[in-house]
Amino acid sequence: MAEAVALHDLRSEIRGWLEENCPETMRRPGQILSGGEKEPIENPDSRVWLERCAERGYTVANWPREYGGAGFSMDEFLVLMQEMRRINARIPLGGMGVSMIGPTLLEYGTEEQKRTHLTRIANGEVRWCQGYSEPGSGSDLASLQTRAVDEGDHFVVNGSKIWTTLAHYGDWMFCLVRTDPQAPKHEGISFVLFPMDQVGVTVEPIKLLSGDSPFCQCFFDDVIAKKDDLIGELNQGWTVGKRLLQHERSGITSLAGAEDYYAPRERPISELAKDYVGEKNGNIGDTELRDDVVRLAMNTRAFLLAQRRAVEEARGGNTPGAATSLFKLYGADLDKESRELRLRILGHQALGWEGHGFTSEEITATRGWLGSKASSIAGGTNEVQLNIIAKRVLGLPD
Ligand SMILES: Cc1cc2nc3c(=O)[nH]c(=O)nc-3n(C[C@H](O)[C@H](O)[C@H](O)COP(=O)(O)OP(=O)(O)OC[C@H]3O[C@@H](n4cnc5c(N)ncnc54)[C@H](O)[C@@H]3O)c2cc1C
Repeated sequence: MAEAVALHDLRSEIRGWLEENCPETMRRPGQILSGGEKEPIENPDSRVWLERCAERGYTVANWPREYGGAGFSMDEFLVLMQEMRRINARIPLGGMGVSMIGPTLLEYGTEEQKRTHLTRIANGEVRWCQGYSEPGSGSDLASLQTRAVDEGDHFVVNGSKIWTTLAHYGDWMFCLVRTDPQAPKHEGISFVLFPMDQVGVTVEPIKLLSGDSPFCQCFFDDVIAKKDDLIGELNQGWTVGKRLLQHERSGITSLAGAEDYYAPRERPISELAKDYVGEKNGNIGDTELRDDVVRLAMNTRAFLLAQRRAVEEARGGNTPGAATSLFKLYGADLDKESRELRLRILGHQALGWEGHGFTSEEITATRGWLGSKASSIAGGTNEVQLNIIAKRVLGLPD
């Protein structure tokens, strides 16, 4: 009872604060900042919104206060999300700091590492990128060859990472490196952090067919990673790296349990269908399409509820362990299914890539559909998730 009253009071407080502090232009979909200063900002209000939220710990509300969070429990966090959703507020801060390296540092970082890095993430000061995949190591990540040699108070890193998302905006990289080439492959890896703006780091964008370059290849030539920034034990980086992947996978499918509270980036499929295909008695006019839209909505709802249950069962609102792969697998398929459906609804209006003949909603849908092809590859392919589920969740023999 007392808890319910406290949540009610918190809700009123948050509602009042949001009304006063969320800029009008942040109450609709748009650019979400990921930290640092390298990415061009489309609207200065994004920065204002980020700073105001950071001041109250709302960028990472479920982190402890001493590291820049608001110390919220899962229920309190959901109240914040619900209130943000009520006014359509966009997330003040996203990116790999908040969703990947931050939660990993909370579990594996020393007190000093937490104090150094977490607050800067929470304030949006630093943008992170992920140095995992290499030209010869993707699914078989543990075969990675980027070498780090112990030089006393620092490591010297040489090698290359590929498919590094938006590394050209990155200020720091979390990176898996080989520190013992003689050891069995999983036992000679360490997890290090280093700044990208240093001599020896070269970042080359990889041009895609679309003309965009969200991916980069990074080259390291005698790059310095300080020993202070070794996360976990030397040669035990595989354990830390795997845990980070669970956070990544849970982020890809919004396993934080808050997906249905954030302001959506696109309008609901049912509305789109009524607009493009027509209405009958207030419903989608085409009955076959209506069935498919309803089936997708039910599957999405069931998926979100199953996610929430798993998150609540896992150590008080944390990312679950290997079971995260179940959600990554199904979430990727669901994402593709919903993108396909949007395309089907738009018909020939989904043929546009740019230009005046197409609305920005149509272009977003087409690009989103192409982008969704990557959801079963990023963060580990569907086949790799199936392997993890078989071995680590179901306990089947190797
Ligand atoms: C959108 C996106 C963003 C990414 N961002 C980053 C990033 O920021 N940092 C980073 O380090 N990496 C990033 N990656 C890379 C990603 O982690 C790899 O693409 C992924 O792990 C697969 O590796 P690969 O591309 O080398 O494919 P491969 O490992 O060569 O796999 C090729 C095919 O073989 C299959 N296969 C491989 N091994 C097995 C097996 N044992 N059993 C069954 N099938 C198997 C795979 O499922 C796949 O279909 C990103 C990828 C994408 C798509």
